[in-house]
Amino acid sequence: MQQLQLPAFGRVLALGAHADDLEIGCFGTLSKLMSRGTQVDGLILSGSDERKQEQAASFAAWGWKGRTGHLSFTDGLFPSYAAEIKAAIRGFTNGQAYDLVLVHHKADHHQDHALLGSLAYNLFRNCPIWEYEIPKYDVDTVQPNVFVPLAEAEMASKVAHLMGHFACQQSKAWYTPGTFEALGRLRGVQANTNFAEAFTCRKLAFSI
Ligand SMILES: [Zn+2]
Repeated sequence: MQQLQLPAFGRVLALGAHADDLEIGCFGTLSKLMSRGTQVDGLILSGSDERKQEQAASFAAWGWKGRTGHLSFTDGLFPSYAAEIKAAIRGFTNGQAYDLVLVHHKADHHQDHALLGSLAYNLFRNCPIWEYEIPKYDVDTVQPNVFVPLAEAEMASKVAHLMGHFACQQSKAWYTPGTFEALGRLRGVQANTNFAEAFTCRKLAFSI
């Protein structure tokens, strides 16, 4: 499959409801962007002290290039705080223009994920939005239309990072290397490559 080259994005925003969401949904993609010099502002909206510590260690080990923020909205109750969350995202971004926003899929069945996916379209009306996916118990797997190929070593790096930095998730039956490798491989098959991360983009404008 022909692979289009992205322009040199200067600044990207990545929104995650919980610690580890960005790593699951777009570790490979953000790693590639940051290796090209893109500054990524990363905001996580909820987390206990333990999860905040894990997320901070993850950002540090990742070699994150850009601002990070980690707020304390209650896990599972985001729809009850929609106005406050919207204001908090506005406060974090403070009018910054972005070349791309990465956020949860709007159709994600986790209420916190879905709220952020919807709010992104209200908050960022002048740049592309890519909705990333989180595999889970709910049968909400999407049919994405944007694929970022990952080499085998890049997929291995993602899995190692996920397994090495979020100890409090390890008790969950689904949180295994096989889960992440399987989704990455499926998306790789669909992109006619080895592994891939996949996104949903609802609107793009091209200059030809
Ligand atoms: Zn989450």
